[in-house]
Amino acid sequence: MSLTLKIPHNDSSPGAEPAFRPFDLIAGAADQRLILFCDHASNALPPAYGDLGLCREALGRHIAFDIGAEKVVRRLAALTGAAAALALFSRLLIDPNRGEDDPTLVMRISDGALIPGNARIGEEEIARRVETYWRPYRAACAGLIDSALARGQIPVLIGIHSFTPCFQGCARRWQAGVLWDKDPRLALPLIEGLRAENIVVGDNEPYDGALLGDSMYEHSTRRGLPGALIEIRQDLLETPAHCEAWAERLARVVAPILSRAETRGIEFFGSRADPKISSA
Ligand SMILES: [Zn+2]
Repeated sequence: MSLTLKIPHNDSSPGAEPAFRPFDLIAGAADQRLILFCDHASNALPPAYGDLGLCREALGRHIAFDIGAEKVVRRLAALTGAAAALALFSRLLIDPNRGEDDPTLVMRISDGALIPGNARIGEEEIARRVETYWRPYRAACAGLIDSALARGQIPVLIGIHSFTPCFQGCARRWQAGVLWDKDPRLALPLIEGLRAENIVVGDNEPYDGALLGDSMYEHSTRRGLPGALIEIRQDLLETPAHCEAWAERLARVVAPILSRAETRGIEFFGSRADPKISSA
């Protein structure tokens, strides 16, 4: 498929290292409606930002990215022919799964760790990160959707994330979670399909999927496109074989959902996070 989007040359320092790519795109098969988003694929930081004052250990943790999610997305795309967009910058730089006005768009403190490179960030620097990283990635995701619609397809959108096995001292029992707002078309059959695979699935756990301005809100809820977010527990993604097994499982679960009639139309269900968006 041809994409009109270009990866910007965004490293402004003259004669410096090669431009940092804010995202990667995988072109899908022409007859495949599934589009995958991997907002937290990477813990990479553009060279100009160094390590944001964090040690290597901190950058290897969940605060910087969703461990294992990138491998699952790349493998799932290969298995299904889905298109995919992957953000190649750490959420600590700027979080692609937060709205532009969200106070957690750039975290000053994450999971108890102070982020020195963000501690005294001003509006101007936030705006710069929005323009250079956040907006190009959002536009790339929208570009995949627009390409599908231009081909006459109603795309089905799934965000893949991962979560920590333990949060504030409590073990999380779910092996996976399906997060959704008010559109049940994808979420309910995903929950059912994963449970049929003997997976302990959280329904809007460990997080609530209704979040104003997040990726699902932007790409699915606002546009009436079937979408959901899948969270996988990180201890189940520790090895390439684990990630491969999850990709195969998700491919099995998603395939019959794509043939369901209710996923083939634009329908507005509204949002629990935004009363201004009403269901039509
Ligand atoms: Zn995530």
